Amino acid sequence: MEGWLTSRYRLITVVVVLLLAGFTTTSLISYSISRDAIRESIIRNELPLSSHTIFSEIQADLLKPVFVSSLMAQDTFVRDWVLAGEQTPNDMQRYLDEIRKRYSAFSSYFISEKTLNYYHYSGISRQVNPALPADQWFWDAKKMDEAYVVNLDHNKEQDAQLTVYINHRVMDYDNNFIGVTGVGLGLNSVQQLVKKYQDNFRRTIYFVDQSGQVQLHSKRTANSATSILEQPGISHIAHQILSQNYGTFSYQREGEKMLLTSRYLPELKWYLLVELREADAMEEIRKSLLMNLIIGALVVAVIAMVITSTLSAFHRRMEHMATTDKLSGLGNRQYFDMVLAQALNHYSRNLQPFSLIVLDIDHFKQVNDQLGHSAGDQVIQTLSQLLGDCIRRSDSLCRWGGEEFVILVPDCSREDAYNLAEKIRQKTAATSLMTEHPERVITLSAGVTVVQQNDTASQLFSRADNALYRAKGNGRNRVDAG
Ligand code: GH3
Ligand code: MG
Ligand code: MG
Repeated sequence: MEGWLTSRYRLITVVVVLLLAGFTTTSLISYSISRDAIRESIIRNELPLSSHTIFSEIQADLLKPVFVSSLMAQDTFVRDWVLAGEQTPNDMQRYLDEIRKRYSAFSSYFISEKTLNYYHYSGISRQVNPALPADQWFWDAKKMDEAYVVNLDHNKEQDAQLTVYINHRVMDYDNNFIGVTGVGLGLNSVQQLVKKYQDNFRRTIYFVDQSGQVQLHSKRTANSATSILEQPGISHIAHQILSQNYGTFSYQREGEKMLLTSRYLPELKWYLLVELREADAMEEIRKSLLMNLIIGALVVAVIAMVITSTLSAFHRRMEHMATTDKLSGLGNRQYFDMVLAQALNHYSRNLQPFSLIVLDIDHFKQVNDQLGHSAGDQVIQTLSQLLGDCIRRSDSLCRWGGEEFVILVPDCSREDAYNLAEKIRQKTAATSLMTEHPERVITLSAGVTVVQQNDTASQLFSRADNALYRAKGNGRNRVDAG
């Protein structure tokens, strides 16, 4: 029994472990395949596409001020007016205001190299001062090799809105530096676009200049921006980013894998960086991995339950088959051996007496011979029912073999057992046991005994058998006690 149980649990354990391992491996393999495919598609398609779309959408927005300021710098009016000695400030103011209105700029201005006069569209005029840090951009622009520079600032007049200023060098006809002109344009639509990408696609978008300084960031303000050369993680690939026009990268930031694509925008001399946390992109398939594992575990649990109950049912059937007599449906000899061993055990502890009755059909051979074997079988079946009806639930009845039966009666003296056997004997003799031969009287003889101290099963049986033998010898259809 125990061996069977342990081997059953071992079988279930092996099946469960195999199934779990199978499910988990399949789920993990498919997760890792989809993860690689997703990563590949992000790097090859999604990020470049985002970058391309963002670039196209903002190009007009950012390039307009570049275009306008270069237009102003090339304008013969501006150059002639300066070369003529800046005679009529009103004309310059009108010009600046016209430009500002036509291109919906925030502001437009011109600074003269000669007089250091700052002409503003509003008419307010002042002089730039080399001692003022706020005016430093003029001297920067004067020194630079490029024709223009892009500056980002928060406009103080307009709710600190992010504004891009293009400072364009103005040259005379002999290519001498005569001043700086420029416009300031609000970057509202760029900011909104960047925010949209941030919110909807979880992309982080930022612009860095050629030195790696962050100029515009979807997560931070331009003021708090630092250089990508100094940011943890990205600093390792910053030089690479800044040395090529286009690139796709991945790097680790605070233990998170980041995927990034870069694109150089020559008009702005900025790099557009579109970045994505790999974990964000993998969230969906991570969820489906978890679902797969949960479903797998449930399926395994159900399979384990089905196997357990199938094996238990099978086990019960085997047990039943091993302990039941097929013809009579009663317990067999093996079953009775167990019951008797248990009863003897019990008796040795509390000395509660039990009795044993052995019964044997009289002249059963004749029944077979005269009426046929199947008639004999029917006698055994009907008699088994009759015996069952005569005993209590606590009594144990079995077909000992052939036409012999045994009854173990707990808490029962020899006299009581005798009376029970006698009752059975009388009832058998008075009952018609075969449907086709209702008149045929079948009798049985019985031997009765009660357990005694230190009895073994065979001692007990041999006393009962002797009594039965005496009953047979004394003419059958009798009960004898021993
Ligand atoms: P006695 O009164 O001395 O017990 O005579 P008996 O004929 O009953 O005893 P015996 O031991 O000589 O014969 C028993 C017979 O029971 C022999 C056998 O053919 C028959 N028998 C045993 N098992 C079965 C069974 O399952 N079905 C049928 N039909 N007959 C059986
Ligand atoms: Mg017999
Ligand atoms: Mg017999």
